[in-house]
Amino acid sequence: MKHDSGSTHPLVPPIHTSAVYVFPDLDAVDAVYHRETTGYVYARDGHPNAVALAAELSRWEAASWGIVTASGMAATSAALLGIVNAGDRILTSDRIYGKTTRLLRDEFTRFGVTTEFVDICDLDAVRHALQTPTRVLFTETISNPTCRIADLPALAELARQSRTELIVDNTFATPALCRPLELGAAVVIESLTKLIAGHSDVTLGYVGGTNPQLQHRIVGGVSTWGLASNPFDCWLANRGLETLAIRVQAATANAVTVADWLATQPTVARVFYPGRDDHPDFALGKRLLPQGVGNMLAFELIGGREAVNRWMRACPNIPFAPSLGHTRTTCSHPATTSHRFDSPAERQRQGITDGLIRLSVGCEPCPELLTNLAGTDPTRH
Ligand SMILES: *Cc1c(COP(=O)(O)O)cnc(C)c1O
Repeated sequence: MKHDSGSTHPLVPPIHTSAVYVFPDLDAVDAVYHRETTGYVYARDGHPNAVALAAELSRWEAASWGIVTASGMAATSAALLGIVNAGDRILTSDRIYGKTTRLLRDEFTRFGVTTEFVDICDLDAVRHALQTPTRVLFTETISNPTCRIADLPALAELARQSRTELIVDNTFATPALCRPLELGAAVVIESLTKLIAGHSDVTLGYVGGTNPQLQHRIVGGVSTWGLASNPFDCWLANRGLETLAIRVQAATANAVTVADWLATQPTVARVFYPGRDDHPDFALGKRLLPQGVGNMLAFELIGGREAVNRWMRACPNIPFAPSLGHTRTTCSHPATTSHRFDSPAERQRQGITDGLIRLSVGCEPCPELLTNLAGTDPTRH
């Protein structure tokens, strides 16, 4: 049974849920395997919704190849599994995403791959650490939750000099604000779960690059290790991607206003937003992210955990949601979520106090957002 739409075709792409594709004869099978015609065999190896989404993302990232994975962590796993061998060494930031730290520290070590953590904002420390042969330098463009920015061109140059592959997790910036491959990265990773799909209803990742050898190993690995995506999530992410530019632009404009407003509040001890000149990466942000430093910010309430509890109860329209990149503003509390299992000393080093709230600023109208942040719970009065 063949389904088509006659001489017309749908404006919106269909969802191809089929796990497998059928062939009229063996020559047709060979033609697909030899890439003489486009076609699919088995959804884990590739399906139309993933291929269309990856092509669109690769255009955004200026990548010559790219693949969609089951999650952001699957993208990180695919990139690392495709590059490192037993005995290799990885150098990474001491402020990366918690699950990435765990992947490197608890999983890759079991296969004889060691990781050293360094302050990625201290280029002398990175240069020194790269004197030991290193296969991969792994960083995030903007760190969570204090929004430290990595100097990607400088890191790319250090990586080049020591024959190290620079992998950049660009989730907080998105390709709307930063294209790491154009700044010298070998591989870029995105968690599509966050701003790119953008509506908190998808779990997916993307990995892309320009080096064909890495393409062969990473893209092949996605099927072999079983890191592939599902069609419905790809379809949703493709729809989200259509509005990425305007959502990021609106959310970034809101974040600028919110950061400055928070800084005037008597209950706020400190604001962390690289778009403000009191952030250590203000100048770097202007240079590296000229269209804006994004929608993520953090602020510290005077009064610690109890002050956070009071603020959360007073601001029910800013939902507590330990993720980011939703259309509307959400908050989280790093000390009880993302950095819960770090030692108090480690949290203190990163500036993650009990009063610190992280905001993922959304693209709702700004006056409404400021009202919500000021606390509008009518039951309070
Ligand atoms: C969420 C996130 C990931 C992991 O993505 P998932 O889609 O949740 O697997 C990786 N890096 C960063 C910076 C993230 O915020």
